[in-house]
Amino acid sequence: MAANAQGVAEAPFVWHPATTAEAVQLKASLGAEGVFAAGGTLLRTQWESGLAAMPNHLINIGAIVELQGLQLDVGSGRGSFGAMMTLSDIRTSPIVNTRFPLLTEAARSIAAPSIRNLATIGGNVLSMVGDSLPALLIYDPVLHWHDGSSGLEEPLSEWLSTAAAHPAWKERLLLSVSLTEPALDSNTKRFVAYHKVGRRDAFTPSVVTAAFSIQLDPDNRLRDVRLAFGGGQTIPHRLETVEQFLIGKPADKKIITEVYSMIVEHYEPKGDAFVPVSYRKKAAANLIASELWKAAR
Ligand SMILES: Cc1cc2nc3c(=O)[nH]c(=O)nc-3n(C[C@H](O)[C@H](O)[C@H](O)COP(=O)(O)OP(=O)(O)OC[C@H]3O[C@@H](n4cnc5c(N)ncnc54)[C@H](O)[C@@H]3O)c2cc1C
Repeated sequence: MAANAQGVAEAPFVWHPATTAEAVQLKASLGAEGVFAAGGTLLRTQWESGLAAMPNHLINIGAIVELQGLQLDVGSGRGSFGAMMTLSDIRTSPIVNTRFPLLTEAARSIAAPSIRNLATIGGNVLSMVGDSLPALLIYDPVLHWHDGSSGLEEPLSEWLSTAAAHPAWKERLLLSVSLTEPALDSNTKRFVAYHKVGRRDAFTPSVVTAAFSIQLDPDNRLRDVRLAFGGGQTIPHRLETVEQFLIGKPADKKIITEVYSMIVEHYEPKGDAFVPVSYRKKAAANLIASELWKAAR
């Protein structure tokens, strides 16, 4: 952090670009000296905890109209969330609740209202461990970036699997996250659930976050199974081995018992000094087993 002659920390210079083109141009000229700031809630915690140094320049992207709001294409069931859409706006949007209910639940579970009024979906995604991620992963999410010269599209799951090792994305501006509503097959019923398990009920970091979406056909067989997990420092991901196993199987006691064991075997969360891996695995398996029981009743 820069300091003045009295040794007092100097605040960064804050730029206020009006367009995405201006924002990426600023980033290109400032390089590592300039950092995009959306709601600033994560950045602030990183500076305060010493995880990141306060940069000399902040590029405030809050005034860029192109990054705001939700565009919905009813025909394709595709929703495009501007990177600056706040978690409060997501939580209270009737459209989001109807089309992407897991995202509404996720937004409800994050921090407290005062933080959610500032915190954005873009910032939550780019934290790599945000509690919105398991919910987003259910809806075939795609990230839309501007890299300074052109637009780029990338499935969220691909970005999550490479982001830590390949930080080139830090030079880009995230424009939006697009989601697609799963199609509902005829004669099937859909069941969805989102759970965040923390060390207390509310305003708590997650230990395990799970998102679940299935369809049950008239013979009580499972279709279109989607399971995503995160929590703590675990990079959220879908559990495709378990999803594939479940497709076409009956939702009965034997299968639910097998799924519990499969999740314990295949889910690989990161543990810490307070909550070991074994607890996180069992919590994740219990959440999914209980949702399958509810759906099968
Ligand atoms: C008290 C408190 C409680 C919290 N609780 C939770 C919680 O329960 N669950 C949870 O998931 N998070 C939690 N957070 C973390 C944080 O609030 C969220 O992750 C939030 O969504 C981050 O969004 P932001 O807009 O504030 O991001 P910022 O802090 O502005 O940015 C975060 C990072 O993303 C980059 N960035 C942001 N937008 C863009 C963009 N469009 N293009 C390129 N780069 C960009 C920034 O450069 C920065 O590196 C909490 C934070 C606080 C302070």
